[in-house]
Amino acid sequence: MSMAKETSRNIGSIVLLGAPGAGKGTQAKLIAARCRIPHISTGDLLRENVRRGSELGREAQAFMSRGELVPDMLVCNMVAHRLEQPDCERGYVLDGFPRTAAQAGWLDALLQDRLFDNPERLKGTPIVIAIEVPYNELLRRLTGRRTCPSCGRIYNVYLQPPRRDELCDVDGSRLVIRNDDREEVITERLKAYELQTKPVADYYASRGRLHVVDGNRAVREVTADVWAAIENAVAVSEGAKARGTHGDFF
Ligand code: AMP
Repeated sequence: MSMAKETSRNIGSIVLLGAPGAGKGTQAKLIAARCRIPHISTGDLLRENVRRGSELGREAQAFMSRGELVPDMLVCNMVAHRLEQPDCERGYVLDGFPRTAAQAGWLDALLQDRLFDNPERLKGTPIVIAIEVPYNELLRRLTGRRTCPSCGRIYNVYLQPPRRDELCDVDGSRLVIRNDDREEVITERLKAYELQTKPVADYYASRGRLHVVDGNRAVREVTADVWAAIENAVAVSEGAKARGTHGDFF
């Protein structure tokens, strides 16, 4: 895909699946920048609500601090509101959503039947990519994760350390460990993933819509595979549109 095409064409919905620490956020940011579509991380949106002390933030906080999933209804309402924003018109990358089979069903219903007041906009099914990483590697990545509280840049003390110990390369702020990156919470988050989020991959796999990518490699190699999956899905959809048939995507 040429850059001009990528930034003007309809990309539609892209869903990145994977355990906490699988690299969804990193890949989502790269896709979003390349296609100029928003990166929508439900974890980031929830943390922002907690910071602002909104009603949603107050309700979500207890679940998040225990490493549990926030109830579906709260998260789905938040996502519906976000997807209504005009910057989602050509597409968006969802990171951390859907996280339960119920959320996946809700998203399909939203995109197929009742997409706000503009039924043609982004109508169809999402491109779903699962990034897979072995459990021990996930643990290592999560316990080493540090975040810059000012610019949001993410480091890893084992894999991608900052140039100066515990300080952000960009703005020099002291790096922090996210509350839910503490070891006991990490175990809970990985458990929640096994129990509740693996069925989301099954949901899409059983419908023949899951692209699996090996995430246990260098970022650029993972990106190449993620991008190939998107390119392929977009080409299939455009081919189907050109033939006037109903494609798998959009
Ligand atoms: P993340 O930054 O994606 O790891 O999300 C951090 C926390 O936010 C999770 O451990 C959950 O408590 C909550 N969360 C994020 N996305 C969802 C979702 N789709 N459904 C339920 N809870 C979520």
